[in-house]
Amino acid sequence: MGKKKKVKVDLTRRDVLTVAAVAAGSAIVAPLVTTGPLSPFADLKQTALEGEAPERSAHAPGEYHWGMVIDLDRCIGCEYCLRACCAMNDVNPDKPWNIVVPEETSDGQPFYFSRPCLHCQNAPCVEVCPVRATYHREDGLVVMDYDRCIGCRYCEVACPYDARRFNWETPTYENPYVPTWGIPEVERRPRGVVEKCTFCIQRIDAGMEEGLTPGVDWEATPACINVCPVGARAFGNLKDPQSEVSKSIANNPTIRLREELGVEPSVYYIPPKEGL
Ligand code: SF4
Ligand code: SF4
Repeated sequence: MGKKKKVKVDLTRRDVLTVAAVAAGSAIVAPLVTTGPLSPFADLKQTALEGEAPERSAHAPGEYHWGMVIDLDRCIGCEYCLRACCAMNDVNPDKPWNIVVPEETSDGQPFYFSRPCLHCQNAPCVEVCPVRATYHREDGLVVMDYDRCIGCRYCEVACPYDARRFNWETPTYENPYVPTWGIPEVERRPRGVVEKCTFCIQRIDAGMEEGLTPGVDWEATPACINVCPVGARAFGNLKDPQSEVSKSIANNPTIRLREELGVEPSVYYIPPKEGL
């Protein structure tokens, strides 16, 4: 693989490792904190919240389990995926849901690492949420109920992959990626909640209602997949052996990030072919 030009990013490898180390500990500690007598939520009555709390974990029991494959050997670091994500989900460009960072293999070959939310099936973020504002859908997606979120940020700390962002301010930011990279399809999230990549849930749901197939039909497919100029990203149903993601996993060596944690991410990576 030849040398690639590096791009400006906001996350270093040390940041990733630091966050991962902190989060690995917090994933164990946080459930004790949230339920213990010193917890700020000790007196919180779940019944005081409107609506029924969703179940914590579903492990995609239904017909679908949406997943992604990212080919690190193909990615050229253009950040189109980041821009399209920010535009169509109206994400603060200073806090992108989908990051792209330059990395190096063990023998010094440069490559680009891209990371959305990994929609983990044993998601620490889901486990620690004291009000079940984040939960699994039957199709494996880890989603947010922004009306339930109380902004405690436990999920943000618990995520081993730094995939969550807290809204400190009322979202009045300029979005420089609109309209060039897309038109917002969802409302901005309010101040005081944690947000993250949804796999463009709005496109999946609207497309499915129209009888379209996410990962195949453009209208039903996440923005980052559609915009990638080199086909480094694939999306689809991990339960369908004929889907592009299933065939890609079957035909390539793939890894999942920090597999040892047992969180079962729904995102698979094809590693760079040289230098690992
Ligand atoms: Fe939760 Fe982080 Fe996994 Fe996404 S990547 S499901 S935010 S633990
Ligand atoms: Fe890599 Fe594709 Fe994202 Fe560009 S759009 S940074 S090539 S994954």
